[in-house]
Amino acid sequence: MPPSRSPIRNLTSALTVLALLIVSSVSLFPGSAAAREDASPDAAPPIASSAHIDQVLDTTRLVFDLSGAVEPDAFVMADPDRVIIDLPEIVFQIDPRSGQPKDARPSRRRGVSGAKASETGVISSFRFGLFAPGKSRIVIDLAKPARIVRAISEPGPDGRHRLQVELAPTDAATFRRTARAMAREIIAERPAPAPDASGADDRRPVIVIDPGHGGIDSGAQGIGSVIEKALVFDFSKVLEARLSEGGKYKVLLTRNSDVFVSLADRVKFARNSNASLFISIHADTISEAAGVSGATVYTVSDKASDAQAAKLAEKENDADAAAGLGGPEDGADVSDILFDLTRRETRAYSHVFARSLVAYWNGAGRLNKNPLRSAGFLVLKAPDVPSVLLELGYLSSEKDMAALMKPQWREKAAGAMVEAIDKFFAPRIGAGGQTEAAEGVAAAQR
Ligand SMILES: [Zn+2]
Repeated sequence: MPPSRSPIRNLTSALTVLALLIVSSVSLFPGSAAAREDASPDAAPPIASSAHIDQVLDTTRLVFDLSGAVEPDAFVMADPDRVIIDLPEIVFQIDPRSGQPKDARPSRRRGVSGAKASETGVISSFRFGLFAPGKSRIVIDLAKPARIVRAISEPGPDGRHRLQVELAPTDAATFRRTARAMAREIIAERPAPAPDASGADDRRPVIVIDPGHGGIDSGAQGIGSVIEKALVFDFSKVLEARLSEGGKYKVLLTRNSDVFVSLADRVKFARNSNASLFISIHADTISEAAGVSGATVYTVSDKASDAQAAKLAEKENDADAAAGLGGPEDGADVSDILFDLTRRETRAYSHVFARSLVAYWNGAGRLNKNPLRSAGFLVLKAPDVPSVLLELGYLSSEKDMAALMKPQWREKAAGAMVEAIDKFFAPRIGAGGQTEAAEGVAAAQR
């Protein structure tokens, strides 16, 4: 007689099948997979796909739509008054111009996506981007003193996450008190970029190329979707390649990605790398005169050469504040005779190179009608590294923009720069003797 299956055993196996079905359907559910990824330390950073501001009665809310959860750390900072939200790395797939007030955009086209910061409530504008490797940041410029009601990230009904920063007006005294209480050692937290340690017996001159701005600091915004930080980075890479071709120089960049680097860290990087030349690359806008165009080479001086140069230096020196750092660090002004002598000599060398750069540029591209200027640029203040800041052209000029976007123009301009650099270093690399650069320095010091 065949053994009959007991009803209890049948029930058990049915339950087992049911349990297996439940388990497999849970693991197929995308939400749970995403939750596990969030917990893993090497998960891909969440993606922010849009941002908007809404206003409910007194409360202004800035909302970012995210693919995963984050833990925000929000605090306020005075002078200028800002709210800063520190975050783990986030990939912002949002037009960087979307946080700017509409009238501040030179663009003829509106931003394609994202929020419209428009002086409603307490927010006048906001920026976002990489602040340091692995760290993203949002900086909100305040139209009036505000307090942080809450800053949280929570899952929405669609399974996506929302980072919400809620702000409400407060009085000026309370704001300043809170800012003082929340003050933190932000600069000390960030290590200076480590200089390249390869080859201690590499005797080639070190040239540091400094692509302006980066990360949360976009720099100037040009016609269409052009932003300064991306344009100057692309140009710096072309220049790096051209300079490296001959093998005569060791070429280093202050940033190798779209990341924020403070002005002080750029100077520190050049000094730690024993740079013989520092070239900061920019392409700004000039709001009051769209007709102004052509390249300009700036050197550092205590007194600005003209009002426009002073204004530009002020704008460039604001880069740290734009990224939510405290006041600019400017500890280089030591009164010491030896220091003064070094600085004088360095400035003279900077002038010699600036003049040479203008001369060679003349053959490759257009120059500003006043191409040699000077002002108090913080990024040029290394006392022992000859430093210049090159404005490739103005993003507010259609003529300049057309040139700057062309790969052929970039190659030609970079080629002219290599010639100017070769000329500057020729005495040190080739035969010795009384050199043109040294003569120039002597002349500049007289
Ligand atoms: Zn700039």
